[in-house]
Amino acid sequence: MKQLRLMAVHAHPDDESSKGAATMARYAAEGARVMVVTLTGGERGDILNPAMDLPEVHGRIAEIRRDEMRKAAEILGVEHHWLGFVDSGLPQGDPPPPLPEGCLALEPLEKPVEALVRVIREFKPHVMTTYDENGGYPHPDHIRCHQVSVAAYEAAGDYRLYPDAGEPWQVLKLYYNHGFLRKRMQLLQEEFAKHGQTGPFEKWLAHWDPEVDVFADRVTTRVECSEYFPQRDDALRAHATQIDPNGDFFAAPIEWQQRLWPTEEFELARSRVPVSLPENDLFAGIEPDDD
Ligand SMILES: [Zn+2]
Repeated sequence: MKQLRLMAVHAHPDDESSKGAATMARYAAEGARVMVVTLTGGERGDILNPAMDLPEVHGRIAEIRRDEMRKAAEILGVEHHWLGFVDSGLPQGDPPPPLPEGCLALEPLEKPVEALVRVIREFKPHVMTTYDENGGYPHPDHIRCHQVSVAAYEAAGDYRLYPDAGEPWQVLKLYYNHGFLRKRMQLLQEEFAKHGQTGPFEKWLAHWDPEVDVFADRVTTRVECSEYFPQRDDALRAHATQIDPNGDFFAAPIEWQQRLWPTEEFELARSRVPVSLPENDLFAGIEPDDD
């Protein structure tokens, strides 16, 4: 059987369902093998759903987040692997408190890199996705996720590096997720206005310099995946402690999103195959193999 394989590397459980989830669901539905690798257990995530802010939840958060992740992966139709590191938490305060002992951000970089190289050499992805150098947002684990993914992409194919972590495998393309786009938010906000509604994005747009446009500056690849938006939302809702089902994310009807912005966006960061940009397929330029 000819096969294509995609690996999406994320910092915490729930990140996979808010960044590139519909794209993964589409490739999985079309017969590719898709694996999500989550670097940490998300043990320090805040409970963002008032309905789940209960004492019995606080005591069992690590276990609950494993359950949520399992459900989300099932909904998206993807495989899942925990890399096994500990959530660094988002330091809040001025000055910020020190990072908690034993967390991912304090591990020497080689440790998570070797762990990820091992999974890459087993799963043999043709394409990997991760975050850009800013982490998408400045959580220490998201920055770390970028560093670990880029280093593992480079190292996995090099037989001199991590020789005890399996046979070398060369990943062909590496992408950054770019889901947080001002232009998309603007279009949805205008649609609320057209329907005589206030819309939840006014406050975001007001503080967002229109000149800072990742969409124009960095996006190389737009993947049509609107059919899978309902699956994406279901996967996100499976992370019940992290997601307020009445939050802004779910405010715009799926039909508007499918009509106004039917794609998810990526930036091609590294490639070992010839490419022609812009493109609309993460596997463009790649032949499936017989694995
Ligand atoms: Zn995260």
